[in-house]
Amino acid sequence: MPRLPGKGIIPSKAEQKLINDAIYGRAFKGLTRKQSDEVRKEIVRGIRDKEGIQEVIKRITASGNVPVAQANLIVRTEDHEIRAILREAAFKINDPKGENLYKWAGPSYQPGRSTKVCQEIKRLTRNGVTMQRLKEIVREQAHKYNPKWEVRDWTPHGNCRHQPIRYFGD
Ligand SMILES: [Zn+2]
Repeated sequence: MPRLPGKGIIPSKAEQKLINDAIYGRAFKGLTRKQSDEVRKEIVRGIRDKEGIQEVIKRITASGNVPVAQANLIVRTEDHEIRAILREAAFKINDPKGENLYKWAGPSYQPGRSTKVCQEIKRLTRNGVTMQRLKEIVREQAHKYNPKWEVRDWTPHGNCRHQPIRYFGD
């Protein structure tokens, strides 16, 4: 599970705003508006209370209104995106001009288990790129490999466990 930036790096009000901006205003595929609202509420609560993904999924599926598989995908996707947005914000505090270099990091590629898209993003960013360029590459590759995926800034596919990290050279 990718960790959140250290406590206190992002002022909590700013952090809450980033979370809200990331998650509100969208309906989830296949869910009614009411279901979407409920799901959002539980995800935000989970992040706030530092719960594990499973606890959030359990609450969402308790009523029987949202199928487990769908809850799984939604919660993992939103959780991943929000954590990456918070990482980006934390990096920006130390890099206001966007001059530092970053790369894409996460589990190694395993045939049959992983998608190729993150492998490709890793390859393209292995020598470090700016945060803005990294974001562009994630978007470009997500579009190329998963044209039907609702592309986010930091989540190029479902169940993604990759995140931006600082690149300091080899
Ligand atoms: Zn991934």
